Amino acid sequence: GLSPDAYRQKHEITVSGDNVPPPFTSFEDTGFPSELLRELLQTGFSAPTPIQAQSWPIAMQNRDIVAVAKTGSGKTLGYLLPGFIHLKKTRKNPQLSPTVLVLSPTRELATQIQDEAVKFGKSSRISCTCLYGGAPKGPQLRDLANGTDIVVATPGRLNDILEMRKVSLSEVTYLVLDEADRMLDMGFEPQIRKIVNAVPTRRQTLMYTATWPKEVRKIAADFMVNPVQVNIGNIN
Ligand code: ADP
Ligand code: MG
Repeated sequence: GLSPDAYRQKHEITVSGDNVPPPFTSFEDTGFPSELLRELLQTGFSAPTPIQAQSWPIAMQNRDIVAVAKTGSGKTLGYLLPGFIHLKKTRKNPQLSPTVLVLSPTRELATQIQDEAVKFGKSSRISCTCLYGGAPKGPQLRDLANGTDIVVATPGRLNDILEMRKVSLSEVTYLVLDEADRMLDMGFEPQIRKIVNAVPTRRQTLMYTATWPKEVRKIAADFMVNPVQVNIGNIN
């Protein structure tokens, strides 16, 4: 295969941070459990996308990360699969409150993330609950009460449920802000700040975004510790 530098150059990957690990240029490089590798191959994927190749090894070192790559580049599995590895290491039984929290701007996107988490997490018996507005709270609260490894949520609905004290974020140690740029555009910053304040400070924080404007840089600086940054292609 290509050297790390040649791979980065070919796929327009730029990195900044201390001792950034080399990209995983193949699925076998990842050391993912065999049932997960089988699922990836059965889905028809032949190799990690560039954002996956470079962000997986960083996330799997338990480091904070900012990953900037355009829509359609495979960011969801970029944070979900290291989240599964994190769960394998930290999971308690029974799982009463979530360990992994993913914030997403819209119901539609949250549902898509939930579908990927269910598809790729099934073989590892990972459970996922999705919380979003515009739907009754009852079924979502029942899902939560059953215990869950992962919560995927829009900031508004999660904040409502948090204020009702129907969820605890005190066990969250892997926090993802997906489409951080869109969440801020939609005015979710106050809800995001309340949610992050309810998550322990001893955690790993991951931000995946299509663009990197100053509003996103500001919350990255507030929420992350010494993050590694990965950009794919030209970012604005
Ligand atoms: P983004 O969040 O960057 O917009 P998604 O995570 O939604 O992108 O992924 C876009 C599409 O690419 C999805 O259909 C997903 O299943 C697919 N995909 C993810 N990883 C790979 C891969 N390694 N190889 C091929 N397709 C992939
Ligand atoms: Mg996405």
